[in-house]
Amino acid sequence: MSKNPTTSGSLFLVSAPSGAGKSSLVNALLKLEPSLQLSISFTTRAPRPGEQNGREYHFITIEDFLQRKNHSEFLEFAEVHGNYYGTSKILIQEAMQAGTDILLEIDWQGAQQVKKQFPDVASVFILPPSLEALNERLNKRGQDSQEVISRRILAAGGEIAHAPEFEYVIINQDFELALSELSAIVKATRCRTSQQSVRNAALFAQLGI
Ligand code: 5GP
Repeated sequence: MSKNPTTSGSLFLVSAPSGAGKSSLVNALLKLEPSLQLSISFTTRAPRPGEQNGREYHFITIEDFLQRKNHSEFLEFAEVHGNYYGTSKILIQEAMQAGTDILLEIDWQGAQQVKKQFPDVASVFILPPSLEALNERLNKRGQDSQEVISRRILAAGGEIAHAPEFEYVIINQDFELALSELSAIVKATRCRTSQQSVRNAALFAQLGI
């Protein structure tokens, strides 16, 4: 895939430790910004109650995942909390070539891989207002076993340590405020000169820019 695509699609990346409220923020953002397309990752994790194959994730076996990895089908992949997760290269490639803005909801390891390939990616890290709030949210969610929750709480510190690698940090204390900040980042990224000059190539040409 080209490092400098001549298409007008912007690439966004959102990471957070489990329990920071990332999925709720991203889902609300997608309602505010309907032209933004969420990349549906592949995972070997079992679906949680209420999750549907092809909606939250493409749920696949470890064998299938490793085969796809060996065929270089992933733009990035990582092992997170004992499961594999990966982003389809072809889906991102097609969407970006079509000028669609794409949002990746991935961990810091995947973020590092994407940044190497797309230095212009707008990357956002979402922080909880405190470690206590993070623990409380994970326990309240009630979707994971106690073992999974404990593992995620233990991992949170290591994940949070990577926040400085991201271009933007949002503290999710007040949901509406955090959402407006995330939306502002999307809007500002779309106004980057590099994006505008491609999206509005005819206008730029007419104005002699
Ligand atoms: P969950 O199991 O709670 O849905 O996700 C666990 C972690 O995996 C989250 O940090 C999430 O962002 C990350 N994740 C989800 N999809 C991908 C992916 O395609 N690639 C990478 N690297 N991480 C992912």
